[in-house]
Amino acid sequence: MLSLPELRQRQSYFLAAVRAAGGRRILTYRTPCCGELEEGIAAGTGELWDTGATCTHCGATYWKESTDERITASLLPATRGAA
Ligand SMILES: [Zn+2]
Repeated sequence: MLSLPELRQRQSYFLAAVRAAGGRRILTYRTPCCGELEEGIAAGTGELWDTGATCTHCGATYWKESTDERITASLLPATRGAA
């Protein structure tokens, strides 16, 4: 399992590679769990990318929706553990 610093580092490398390759916009958004600023790749024009995401700041899971203009993130309903 990745630690949060490892997760942040991998994401940082990933975004640096995307920036170096060019051609994709990087958008900034605020996480719904701890209110930190986060970066993600903009979807293509007319596209909606939705996915679960792990916060690299606090480790919470949230739902993320990306368009070509903005990324919005919201908390998931609380889930009950199986154990
Ligand atoms: Zn968080």
